[in-house]
Amino acid sequence: MKIAANNLKRQYDLHAEEYEAKALEDLRSGWYILGQEVKTFEKEFADYIGSKYCVGLANGLDALILAFRILGIGAGDEVIVCGNAYIACMMGISINGALPVLVEPDEYANLDADRIEEKITDKTKAILAVHLYGQSCDMTKICAVARKHNLKVVEDCAQSHMTTWEGKVCGTIGDISCFSFYPTKGLGAFGDAGALLTDNEEYAEAAKMLRNYGSRVHYENEVVGVNSRLDELQAGLLRVKLKYLDDLNAERCEIAERYNTGITNPLIRVLKTRPGSNNTWHQYEIFCDYRDELAAYLKEKEIGTIIHYPIPPHLSEAYAYLGLHEGDLPLTEKHSRTVLSIPMYNGMTIEEQQYVIDALNAFVPEAK
Ligand SMILES: *Cc1c(COP(=O)(O)O)cnc(C)c1O
Repeated sequence: MKIAANNLKRQYDLHAEEYEAKALEDLRSGWYILGQEVKTFEKEFADYIGSKYCVGLANGLDALILAFRILGIGAGDEVIVCGNAYIACMMGISINGALPVLVEPDEYANLDADRIEEKITDKTKAILAVHLYGQSCDMTKICAVARKHNLKVVEDCAQSHMTTWEGKVCGTIGDISCFSFYPTKGLGAFGDAGALLTDNEEYAEAAKMLRNYGSRVHYENEVVGVNSRLDELQAGLLRVKLKYLDDLNAERCEIAERYNTGITNPLIRVLKTRPGSNNTWHQYEIFCDYRDELAAYLKEKEIGTIIHYPIPPHLSEAYAYLGLHEGDLPLTEKHSRTVLSIPMYNGMTIEEQQYVIDALNAFVPEAK
């Protein structure tokens, strides 16, 4: 049985007719940028998450870049972020000239809130809480540290559309939250798309101005902005998918539950669930000391896998200037050596899941 690491076509097929009708409607409208679809999506998504304002943007990285810019964070400032987060998280900080300060992950493979304080200096301005893999950070501890040291909290919800922390929806807890609608994300567009959410009217106004060349009124440019607009077609298609997001999340939770109970090979660990967080299972992570051999073995059985992420950001060429070396963040480095994403997508059949489970349970490393 051939099983791809991800299969977006299955999800598309679930509501193909509606997507196609909406695409035609938007193509025929004659209005393609910043029109009614974007406005309506912004209202619907803000209501869905429970935030006052949503500003549609071109992608998730732009949401991060604009979030720190709006908060006035730049050269000379420091922002706390998890060492094993996606490299876009670091870029959202460093493109503004600020310094990403990396904190090791906890047993839930995400920012260890107990290690934040030791990294705080008089330059620290914010904490970027990335809800990795669909699971929330410990927002209670993070917000307590932020309050104590007068720091802003930005949430990266690119992998956590409707994840909750102690009953609160991720994206409504910090000062600003950043969403990506990249096709593989929980709420995925059919191309690039993203959004910035906040309860603060000033921040929302600033984001609207910045995304459109720094202009509120056509051709009156107040600041040097960017072009980062969500387009009408993507907004229309996102509105269709948003109606089904609860169902899509629930289906992935069922798949995860089957994996959680089905995977019994003692050499394979599954992601620990943080008490207080639901997990919307953006993807399904396993951890294995023989990861590369396991991935090769699964490939042999035609099971696709992906490593999120093979090179930790601090060891990438882009961040060589941080001056960090192998051994400086041992937990982050161990994470990237052992982590593996196994197939997990909406529309995955029970037979396919069972095939993956059986293969994993039969794995015996030669290197052992
Ligand atoms: C995908 C992702 C981003 C970037 O989103 P893009 O839309 O691809 O720019 C940022 N942070 C995290 C955690 C992501 O998973």
